[in-house]
Amino acid sequence: MSKLLLLLAVTILVVYLIKRGSRRGRDVEGPEKPTAEVEDMVRCHVCGVNLPRSEALMSKGRLYCCDRHLHQDQQ
Ligand SMILES: [Zn+2]
Repeated sequence: MSKLLLLLAVTILVVYLIKRGSRRGRDVEGPEKPTAEVEDMVRCHVCGVNLPRSEALMSKGRLYCCDRHLHQDQQ
């Protein structure tokens, strides 16, 4: 009887680990795709280069690729 309980416990543990493993696998895949789709590209007001919005510098409603271009346009 105790062997049967042990077998049941091991089976539950294995099923739990498999489920957890597959869920983690999906989590790793999941976040990468949405960020790539959500991240929109913007254009530098000076040189016109495209860059992700998170990397762009914003000043007075205009976007720039770098500090140099931001200051260049402000002058
Ligand atoms: Zn630029």
